[in-house]
Amino acid sequence: LLALATTDHEDLRTESLPWSSIPDLRSGPAPRAFTCDVLVVGGGITGALIAEHLSALGHDVALIDQEPPGRGSTAASTAMLQWEIDAPLLELADLHGFERAADVYRRSLKAVEGLSELIAALALPCRHRPRSTLYLAAGEAGFSELAREHELRRQAGLPGELLTAGDLRRHFGFDRPGAIWSPGSADADPVCLTEGLLRVARSRGARLLAAEALGVDSDAGGVTVALAGGGEARARHVVLATGYAMPHVLPQDLHKVSTSWALLTERQDPGVLWRDEALLWEASAGYSYARTTADGRIVFGGEDESWHDADKAAALLPEKTETLLRKLADLRPGARLGVSAAWAGAFGETLDGLPLIGRVPGQPRVLAAYGYGGNGITFSFMASRLLGALIQGEERPWFEAFALDRRVQA
Ligand SMILES: Cc1cc2nc3c(=O)[nH]c(=O)nc-3n(C[C@H](O)[C@H](O)[C@H](O)COP(=O)(O)OP(=O)(O)OC[C@H]3O[C@@H](n4cnc5c(N)ncnc54)[C@H](O)[C@@H]3O)c2cc1C
Repeated sequence: LLALATTDHEDLRTESLPWSSIPDLRSGPAPRAFTCDVLVVGGGITGALIAEHLSALGHDVALIDQEPPGRGSTAASTAMLQWEIDAPLLELADLHGFERAADVYRRSLKAVEGLSELIAALALPCRHRPRSTLYLAAGEAGFSELAREHELRRQAGLPGELLTAGDLRRHFGFDRPGAIWSPGSADADPVCLTEGLLRVARSRGARLLAAEALGVDSDAGGVTVALAGGGEARARHVVLATGYAMPHVLPQDLHKVSTSWALLTERQDPGVLWRDEALLWEASAGYSYARTTADGRIVFGGEDESWHDADKAAALLPEKTETLLRKLADLRPGARLGVSAAWAGAFGETLDGLPLIGRVPGQPRVLAAYGYGGNGITFSFMASRLLGALIQGEERPWFEAFALDRRVQA
């Protein structure tokens, strides 16, 4: 039996959040015994994308969550839908070789495109907006580091332009040593997006049920899932999408759960917002990130710590909020610093910046989607396609880059 971890939503994030709240879409408690083709455990953005995709492929899907879906770490996300991943291409190429690293980056670009197309095709009302990004030189990562990153991206066939300090000041009004400007990203309301996807899956027959999974056990014919309260589900495949409640079978040396803090400002004067309202993120290790919202506010986050402890994260919220406001004032003098919401959330990090998506070692019918960092939602979309293919019996060489048992040299 593979025991599953479980957490309350309060363990994943603090209370005050910027996004709309959504109704509980679960129809009620799971029956004591039920069967389905694919059982998805977890109803955050990852589980919602997987349930939508598998129901579109014609599978009989059931999704369980012990809490109302969409209110875990998904509700803490700043939802910058970026194709640039936490590990710069330079770093990823060092770890995995240029060809594999370039392939992952191109797939990430395609994933953001695919997610945008899906949102448009399903007409999901999730305030999705195409965005460009500015990757700003900061701290130890100066202009020459960005120039090397830009050159490697060019060799990989990725879009973008290198901006000097002068270009950046002239076009965007930021005072930094340089930046890489890139098209092809987006932003959205992650909670509405999750709701929309779950509604679509439900309209195709997917069952959304209240239950906590305690453990999974595979045999040749399928997987049995033990539920809290003594119930049991039986499925041909099980997909674990429980966010940062991760089973211990996963490689603990590859992944750790950290904490990130973020805030939402009051409405800004239009002159304060920058050109194209591009998504901003910094190249330094202790980076900050920023986006705007459709109603003219700034979301500003960062100040990450490499531990996760919900009480400690909540206690540090006032201090972290002050620091974030100081950094925002430095980046955008003139920004209004009134705070509409400030929060902390659990956040994943892997040694190579890539998530853990694929078969659970030793349990071929149990699939998992974990390990998300700053562009977790892009990887959740990729997870839905990768796991969908595995369930359909399709293998591709590129799946190896995300394998749960891959080796990464620290
Ligand atoms: C402050 C912050 C900023 C972020 N910014 C971005 C960003 O800009 N862009 C981006 O792409 N990503 C960002 N992320 C990361 C992104 O939010 C995550 O990758 C994403 O929310 C993970 O979603 P999930 O569905 O995997 O997990 P969750 O949303 O946590 O959902 C997991 C669900 O599983 C359920 N569950 C757990 N265990 C069990 C069990 N045993 N039985 C039944 N149900 C169970 C939980 O109740 C929960 O509802 C950010 C995260 C934080 C905290």
